[in-house]
Amino acid sequence: MVKGEFLYEGKAKKVFRTDDPDLLLIEFKDDATALDGVKKDRLPDKGILNNHLSAIFFEMLEKNGIETHFEKTISERGMLVNALEIIPVEVIVRNIAAGSISKRLAIPEGTTLKKTVLEFSLKNDELHDPMINHYHIYALDLASAEEMAEIEKVALKVNDIMIPYLKDKGITLVDFKLEFGRHKGKILLGDEISPDTCRFWDSNSGEKLDKDRFRRDLGGVVEAYREVLRRLEGGEGPAVEGKS
Ligand code: UDP
Repeated sequence: MVKGEFLYEGKAKKVFRTDDPDLLLIEFKDDATALDGVKKDRLPDKGILNNHLSAIFFEMLEKNGIETHFEKTISERGMLVNALEIIPVEVIVRNIAAGSISKRLAIPEGTTLKKTVLEFSLKNDELHDPMINHYHIYALDLASAEEMAEIEKVALKVNDIMIPYLKDKGITLVDFKLEFGRHKGKILLGDEISPDTCRFWDSNSGEKLDKDRFRRDLGGVVEAYREVLRRLEGGEGPAVEGKS
């Protein structure tokens, strides 16, 4: 696989063409941003961990019938993916209140929601990813009603697959963000699935194992990502205290 022309750079990833027009190369960076890009840092090895973690999630989801853009891991930081026409809508799935929903609706963080909540945001940094609804999506022609029905069905199915998978590893899936795109007439799950885009809490202690450690200056960010990887790879529960 030949690494081709640099296409664009996001906050946490770089994207390149390859010699196959249907395939792109994503490289995960160590950069972390939060608070609308105001807070920035470089977290050594974060990109390597997120490349690895995203691949594990995408492969697990594919095995469970979800169609994703993931093709294969090709290097420490790189994965090959199907080229998507990205739908500029971020899909947020929430099981437990945290972050922006807790602030917006005054729901104490940690409250289990009676029903899974789906939210949509316009993917636009300049506008700070404003929340939108179906009317906006159709008025702005971001996606069709058929596409949104498919996206919602898949987002909820991803949640139904991820919850027990993570629970088995001692991790509570609080919420996460998904992005979708079009590829050869199909809607595929794109972007990444990692502690940058999900909230993971240790099922016993409630300890945060995700990007909130960075957002909230809790320290131990990369260590927490590494702990998630350890659990996913080992297929085991939380580390016993005193055991390295
Ligand atoms: N999220 C994300 N990218 C965004 C906004 C949110 O990956 O641009 C994820 C975030 O990590 C969390 C979920 O979506 O798992 C819900 O985030 P929330 O709306 O609470 O925003 P936050 O308070 O984290 O900015």
